[in-house]
Parts: sequence; C-alpha cells; structure tokens
Amino acid sequence: MNLGEFSSNTGDSRPVISVIVPFYNERQVLPLCLDRLEKVLGALGEPFEVVFVDDGSDDGGDHYLIAEGHARPWLQLVRLSRNFGKEAALTAGLDYATGRAVVLLDADLQDPPEYIPDMLTRWRAGADVVLMQRRDRVGETWCKRVTAYAYYRLLRRLAQVPIPADSGDFRLMSRRAVEAVRRLDERNRYMKGLFAWVGMPTVVCEYDRAARPAGRSKWSYPRLLALALEGITSFSVAPLRWATAAGGVAALFGAGYGAVIVAKALLFGDVVQGYPSLVALITFLGGLQLLTIGLVGEYVGKTYLEAKRRPIYLVRDVVKPVSSRNGRRQPTSGALTHAR
Ligand code: UDP
Ligand code: MG
Repeated sequence: MNLGEFSSNTGDSRPVISVIVPFYNERQVLPLCLDRLEKVLGALGEPFEVVFVDDGSDDGGDHYLIAEGHARPWLQLVRLSRNFGKEAALTAGLDYATGRAVVLLDADLQDPPEYIPDMLTRWRAGADVVLMQRRDRVGETWCKRVTAYAYYRLLRRLAQVPIPADSGDFRLMSRRAVEAVRRLDERNRYMKGLFAWVGMPTVVCEYDRAARPAGRSKWSYPRLLALALEGITSFSVAPLRWATAAGGVAALFGAGYGAVIVAKALLFGDVVQGYPSLVALITFLGGLQLLTIGLVGEYVGKTYLEAKRRPIYLVRDVVKPVSSRNGRRQPTSGALTHAR
C-alpha cells in the first residue's frame, strides 16, 4: 500500500486523479479526447481533474475547451504564451496538476485513456510510477519503428540511468514522484530521461499504442532527430569520450604512418610520392576534427542555454484555475501567469 500517499492526504480536497493533456493544434481530436476521458474518469467515482495545456495552438482548440468547460467543472486549461514544445507543456502540466496521482496523456488518443483505471489499481497497490510500454506501434511506418527500436537500445547503453525502451510519456506518477520531477529545474528537458533519473518504485505495463484518429504527428524527422540527440547529450557524455578515443586512434595511426614515410625516405629516397594518400589523410583528419568540435560545441551550447536560466515556459492564462496550494513554479515561469 502507498501508506505515505494516503495518510498524508487525509481530509484533503485535492482531486485524487489529475490527467495532464498537452496539445498543439489538435482541434480535430479534442472532442473525441474529451468524450473518452469523461467516460473513463466519470466511471471511477472519485474526484478528478483534467489539465489541458495549450502549447500555443492557433486552430481554436482552446476556445473549444473553454466552451466545453462551462459544463465540466473538472476541466482546466493552461494556455502557454507560445509553442514551447511538448516537454515544456508537460512541465507546465505537472506544475498545475494537484491530484494525488497524475497521468500524462497525449491529446491524440494514441495513449488510450481506457488504461487509466488499471494504472490506478497498480498505483494503489504501491507503485509510484506506472510506466506504459508500447507493445505495438500501429499506424507508424516501418522506418519509424526500426529507428525507434535502434535508438532506444543505444540510449539505454549510453545513459547513466536506465531509460526504458519503447515508452513515451504515457504514465501515472504518484504525488511523491511528481514533486521529485518538479525539483529537476533544467532547461534541456528530455522528459523520459528526467522521469527515469528520478527513479521510484516503478511498474511497467504493456499497452497497444493506437493510431491517431485525426490530425498529424507534430514530430517531423528533423524534430525527432533533434529530440534523439537531446536525449543522448542530456544523459551521457560518452560521445565526448568517443571523440577522445577517435583522436587517440588517429594520433597513433599518424605516428605509425609518419614513421613508415620517414623510414622510406631515408632508405629509398622516396619523398615525392604519396600525394593521393596525403590528400585523403588531410581531408579525413579535417573531417574528424570538425566533427569533434561540433560535438564539443553541442555540449557547450547546452551549458550556455542552462546558464541563461530562462523560464521553461510562460503561461498566458489559466482558465478555471485550481487552488494555489500546489506551490507552482512561480519564480521562474509564473511571470506572466494570471488567472481569468
Ligand atoms: N504536442 C505539444 N507541443 C508540441 C508538439 C506536440 O503539446 O510542440 C502534443 C501533441 O498535441 C500531442 C502530443 O504532444 O498531444 C504528442 O504529439 P504527437 O502526436 O505529434 O507525437 P507522436 O505521437 O507522433 O510522437
Ligand atoms: Mg501522437
């Protein structure tokens, strides 16, 4: 049993369950998302809230939710000042959710809300984190499947923390786990990695990831690649060591090859030949050097962004604000926050 969870919240007016739904231009799927969430959560017979985080949509999804919210006291909308990316939107959701158990869910229904009751059962049985792992990637191209498979395995190998394979952000977290994640204040937010870094007793459940009912994935390949690099460089300095190793190997090879050339020149007077190999070596080493400088630059750039300490997100407004007992991330991200 999660005794800490229950005993510390006796007489608490907080909802038991918070569902955080970040969305960016998902107007087409929001009605279905709202319907299915209402059906599932309504059947639980416990107080709940749904925190929709509008990540700078410009397709009117926020107005739809405001209109629907009149009849649904459990619906809250946090509108960010612009599109900050899903990771920042999730961070905002974690700051505004007040439930004792918090579920992260995509608006596009690829993470079926119907799993929530099962997740709650496991939370009640003592898990701080109920991690949903994809059994199948219906509706995704084979190319995405293969690259995702390879990437997760590479990440597991490189990262100092075991970032689970084939899992997205779909998960339940206890209040304790949420508070732990909220303490990680870094700007480079690779959420899967941050969640894994926090640890806590975790139960892994398999689920079938559904296809999108409407709309399009916001993750283009360049954006996915950037996220993949972010994951590796946020959680591992192994690439820097590879650069050192490559430099070491190149230097050793250079020394050996140099010795051969000098010996040939001394023994046979053969000093003019070797132009093609010279050009090949110069271009190869030039490329290796640029690659390494780029790699170091990646880490320096990350340090630069962290050093600026800009807010992770800015809130435009909160429609139907929840109680302010949650101790939000006011000093860094609440500068523009005002409740309507
Ligand atoms: N999303 C967001 N901000 C963004 C991009 C995406 O809040 O800048 C939301 C999106 O609306 C969806 C979730 O993040 O609810 C997952 O995005 P998507 O379905 O595009 O990603 P995929 O499922 O293809 O990985
Ligand atoms: Mg999706």
